[in-house]
Formats: sequence, C-alpha cells, structure tokens
Amino acid sequence: MPTTVPTPSLDVASIRRDFPILERKIHGKPLAYLDNTATTQKPASVLKALEDFYRTRNANVHRGVYLLGEEATADYEGAREKVARFVNARAAEDVVFTRGTTESVNLVSNAWGRVNVGKGDVIVSTEMEHHSNLVPWQLLAQERGAILRHIPVDGHGRLDLTDLDRILDGPVKMVSFTWVSNALGTVNPVVELTRRAHAAGALVFVDAAQSVPHMPVDFQATDADFLAFSGHKMLGPTGIGALVAKRKHLEAMPPLFGGGEMIREVTLQHATWADVPSKFEAGTMNYADAIGLGAAIDYLTPLGMDLVHAHGRALACQAMRALQAIPGVTVYGPPIEENRGGVVSFSVDGVHAHDVAGTLDQDGIAVRAGHHCAMPLHARLGVPATARASFTVYNDAAEIDRLAAGVRKVKAVFAR
Ligand code: PLP
Repeated sequence: MPTTVPTPSLDVASIRRDFPILERKIHGKPLAYLDNTATTQKPASVLKALEDFYRTRNANVHRGVYLLGEEATADYEGAREKVARFVNARAAEDVVFTRGTTESVNLVSNAWGRVNVGKGDVIVSTEMEHHSNLVPWQLLAQERGAILRHIPVDGHGRLDLTDLDRILDGPVKMVSFTWVSNALGTVNPVVELTRRAHAAGALVFVDAAQSVPHMPVDFQATDADFLAFSGHKMLGPTGIGALVAKRKHLEAMPPLFGGGEMIREVTLQHATWADVPSKFEAGTMNYADAIGLGAAIDYLTPLGMDLVHAHGRALACQAMRALQAIPGVTVYGPPIEENRGGVVSFSVDGVHAHDVAGTLDQDGIAVRAGHHCAMPLHARLGVPATARASFTVYNDAAEIDRLAAGVRKVKAVFAR
C-alpha cells in the first residue's frame, strides 16, 4: 500500500498561543486580526526581547567603552547579522537599518538619485505600487527633470510586460517595483524584471515590504541592487526596517543624513564618512527595535518561510473561494490558480468598503478598507475602494469562515 506523506504545515494552534493580543475580545467577540498587510501583531518573544533589553542591557550603541555599551552594540550588530542571514545579503555590512520601507526608498531616491539622475533620464515603476514606491521617485523626477514611466497592470492585477522593451528603452536609470502587491497579493517576476532592467542599463530597487515577512527571500538570487522592508510587518516592532544593497552602491552613494557616528573625521568646514553601513546611520539609531526585529526573525526562521508562504496562500485561496461564492461580492487580483501572497481584496455591490469593514468590526473581524495606499492601482481597476483581508502565521481557517459569514451579514444588513 502506498504510504501518504503528510504535507508539512504550520502548527497554527500553537503559534496563536504565542500572541497575547489574540486573547482580546473586540465588541465581545474574539479578535480575528486580518489586517496583516498594514501591520502584524507581536509574539511574546519579541515583547520580551524589548523588555529584557531595556531592563538589563540598554546603553547607546557604538559609543560606550564600558560593558553595557559593548553588550548593546553586540546585540545591535547581532540583529544586523540576523537580517543579513534572513534575506541572504552578501554581508551584514550590506544591511542599513532604517525606519522601514518608506525611509529606505527615500534614502535611495535622495542619496543615490541626486547624484545619478539628471534631466531627461527615466525612472520606471509600476501601476501597482504602494505610494511609498511612487512618491519619492516623483519628488526626485521633479527636482532633477527626469521622466517617470510605469509598467501597466492588466485586468487581473498582474504586470503587463508586453511593452517592457519600449518602457526600458532610453536612459533608464532605475527600475523600482514591488515584489508582492499589498493590495492584491500579486507576486511579480522579480528575477525576470531584474534581468531585463539590468540589460537596459538600469539599477533595480525591490520593495519587499510584503515579501520578506511572508516568503523565502534570497537577495543575492534576485540580483537586485536594493531591497527594502519593514520590521512591523514581520512580527517585529514599529520604527525599524532595512535597506539591503550591493556594497558598491552603498560605497558610491553620499550619505543622506549628517550627524554623529556617520563620520570618520570632522573639521569646522569639512567631514569625511565612516564605512558602510555607518555612513547611512546618523545619530542615535533605533537600536532597541532593531534588536526586537532580530527577535522576530528568530521567531519566523524555525517556522520555515516556505511553510509561512504556503500557509498565507492556502488561507487566501480559502478566502477567495468563500467570498466568490457570495452573490454580489467581487474579488480582485490574480485567479486562484496563480501564486499570490496572503492578501484578498474584495467589494460588496452597493456597500462602501468602509461600511463592510465597520460591520465586520462589530463581529471582532479587523480588515482594512480604502485604497490601501495604492490609488493609481485602484484607478486602473476602476474601483475607488476595496475591503482587504490579509493573513499571516497566526490566522486560521476558522477566521476565514468568520470572515465569509460576516460578509454575508454585511449583505443582509445593507439590503434592508
Ligand atoms: N510597500 C508596500 C508594498 C507596503 O505594503 C507598505 C506598507 O503597507 C509599504 C511599502 C510602506 O511600508 P512602511 O509604512 O512600513 O514604510
């Protein structure tokens, strides 16, 4: 008799016990937190790492020649090594701590862009970007007289690469795109886009805000030049994230912020810069939350990022099937057979997305409503706002059942 090998999967019941906030009741109902694209909840181990650090090891990093300062520095640099290993950066020095994805994009658009982008140069992005990967490039283009082009999106919310050769024609300096859409869960072909952008002579910036938290990410395998993500979206604290880059770019770029610790020597008229990554880390950094991010990586790594991705995708498929079965509900994004992140955006005929989210909230279900910081994408899809459910390691099938029941209730309430 053939033996069936059980498919490995996450032990969600056990994971849920690690997240204290999941014990909360919302309007008297158990919390079903389905807004993980916006931010994620924190496991007890991350909360404990923050508390332990402040209770027993806090001192400013890279300054004290006393034991406490040395310990704090070791913890901070240890967190950098964890980040580097997690995304397979070439070295820990290729990781610059930032406030998050938004700051990482702005760091590159300013520090790299002001030196490398001139009048008539082209910056390419896509129609599906989060505003944080559109607006910084717009500011740069306005300042430098550069031209913006965008890879279009098809009706299923996938990039349409038909005209890519034309879009990449000319003095294209940067191609900046999201790996996974925060609004639709679309997974973009990072390796192909990077290869074609490089062939056109451009550098590549990957917005990995929705990929690093949810799937295996190998920075070196992408061959991208820059990659950015945020700690708070991957079970870590707010106010910390990273820019990962090829060393040669970090070495060539001028610093963005001036201040303590980013210098080698300062005179009244002049300064020289510290080595990377310190050159980009002026002033007192958010070292405590960097250490918290390290604890989040320690939590995610043993789960297995391939299983984390499979779990998010399975929940997304379950949610798509359940929502598509409800008359009057439209689900956006790639078809169910295609790879996607754990994100499902939908609308209910005749009911505004805010009313959908407000009604679900009465049942303890937290979903996002609006344009999800992707107004051009919503304009392309012809819908001003959607409701969005997004999943991570602590979400389970029962919560999807509650979501579907809640949406049926929305229909009943607003049909009256
Ligand atoms: N890019 C994507 C794809 C996102 O989903 C987000 C946040 O939702 C961001 C960028 C911005 O991240 P942050 O606000 O943490 O800087």
